[in-house]
Amino acid sequence: MTKKINNNLLNNEEEEKMVYCECKYCGEEFEAEEELEVCEACEEAIDCASNPALIIALAEKFGCAPKDVGEYEDGEYEIDGIDYLVLTDSEADEKVEEYIEENLWAFSPIFLSSVTGIDESVFEAIQDNDRCEGNNEAIKSILDATNTSISEVAEEAIKWDGRGHFLSSYDGEEIEVYADGEYYYCYRI
Ligand SMILES: [Zn+2]
Repeated sequence: MTKKINNNLLNNEEEEKMVYCECKYCGEEFEAEEELEVCEACEEAIDCASNPALIIALAEKFGCAPKDVGEYEDGEYEIDGIDYLVLTDSEADEKVEEYIEENLWAFSPIFLSSVTGIDESVFEAIQDNDRCEGNNEAIKSILDATNTSISEVAEEAIKWDGRGHFLSSYDGEEIEVYADGEYYYCYRI
């Protein structure tokens, strides 16, 4: 808000008294008719968020202000100019399962052998045909035949590599943020 400019000195007394304020999130200095703790931009970012507590927690974790946190669809956020996936614990597990189901062909024979109990050489032979993603169905059929569920595969893969390895295409990191009784996990994408 900008200060009213009063050109008529005689009317000075009628000028509204403006209070000096400083946003507790971004530090912006502004004037308002009453004392406010939060600037307009931060207030709007928080009010428009589907989860206001999460916006505040993300800003705090990443060293910026709520006005620097933008929310997109499907758990995607822009935080201080950088894109992240922000998910709850169970959403993150689900996303890893989706990823793994589509990328079974890319897992190492030793890993696939450990989860299915089928000899490594079987997976080596499949991968040697160089069909890459074209082998996904073949590997899925081995999982089915050995009663190995995708969630079991995911659980083991997370043990080996962590969820960040699958969800953060940027650096494989997982960043934990706590907001309003729930843990969230951020992955730079
Ligand atoms: Zn602010």
